[in-house]
Amino acid sequence: MPIEFAQRISRIPVYPVASGYDLGAEVAMLASNESCFAPLPEVVRAAQAVIAGANRYPDPSYSALRLALSERYDVPAQRIALGNGSCDILLAAGEALLEPGAEVVYAWPSFSVYPHLAAASGARAIEVPLDDSERHDLEAMAREVTVATRLVLVCNPNNPTSTAVGLEEVAALLERVPPHACVILDEAYCEFSLRLGDPFASLELLRAHPNLVILRTFSKVYGLAALRAGYALCGSVAVREALDQVRQPFHLNAAAQAGAVEALRHQDEVERRVARTLAERQALAEGARRLGLWVAESDANFIWVRLPADGPSEPEVVAELARQGVLVRAGASLGREGALRVTVGTAEENERFTEALAGALT
Ligand code: PMP
Repeated sequence: MPIEFAQRISRIPVYPVASGYDLGAEVAMLASNESCFAPLPEVVRAAQAVIAGANRYPDPSYSALRLALSERYDVPAQRIALGNGSCDILLAAGEALLEPGAEVVYAWPSFSVYPHLAAASGARAIEVPLDDSERHDLEAMAREVTVATRLVLVCNPNNPTSTAVGLEEVAALLERVPPHACVILDEAYCEFSLRLGDPFASLELLRAHPNLVILRTFSKVYGLAALRAGYALCGSVAVREALDQVRQPFHLNAAAQAGAVEALRHQDEVERRVARTLAERQALAEGARRLGLWVAESDANFIWVRLPADGPSEPEVVAELARQGVLVRAGASLGREGALRVTVGTAEENERFTEALAGALT
């Protein structure tokens, strides 16, 4: 007799994890939108220092990190939720807001975790196609909002297509979403966006909309993906409380708390790294365009490249790149076949990708 699992196990999509983590430094890891910069030595030291006290549980109120974020963004600490990566907060939002009969609206293709939320809770997922430029169609999303909507997810800049919509468009959407529905603005990549300007711009929206949650992460611009730290700036205390209520008490480990606090102290270096990433992003996109490919206008630390319809197939291209030691993400695993998502790496890695791609297309 096989073990009987909860019905939702058959509904929940398996997250498309990247391969290659066992291959070592020889491989150009351009598949997971990580930072190619190692954490700063001060951040490493801060995280290491707390390991000596690992016999104690981590601070369950995350006071130092919440205070640091509160001061940086001028949002009261009671409205800041923390998580074991921002994924943890997304899953908590699904649990806190969704149930059978409820609806969640998001664009597609977008972040691979979003479909999990409806599948896990039994809510109805409304997936709204991106527009022809691979951007969110916020007008179409607003039309899908009903009395049953509990959650609207806006991924800005969007993973996997790298595109961003302007904050005035997000503001217009927020005007149309009734106050009973929560809007999560997932800004995992906002620091890389020229269109969004700076990471403080969207905070203005929080003041006007208690149903808004701005979701951010230390995994990308701060280069701390392995520590697992994400945060949510919430428009209301009630949302933060609900996000914490559905989770285990210690959802952010001590090393992640200490590393994140230290990382926030080095904004000048963060900005230098962003500038280098943007210069490399341009080189990466130009390299692909020189091969005659369409590349979306990127606002993130990755690019989205459409493959020609009359060339080798997407799996063939991805396999050939891997054979040449370059790992990228196949569009098919992210919701759209015939494209590649390529993380901006070091100059050397990016050149290697461009050369390997030229080879794979011939
Ligand atoms: N949101 C988006 C749009 C992402 O692309 C990612 C990471 N791929 C996350 C959230 C989650 O990141 P983390 O859990 O590492 O904070």
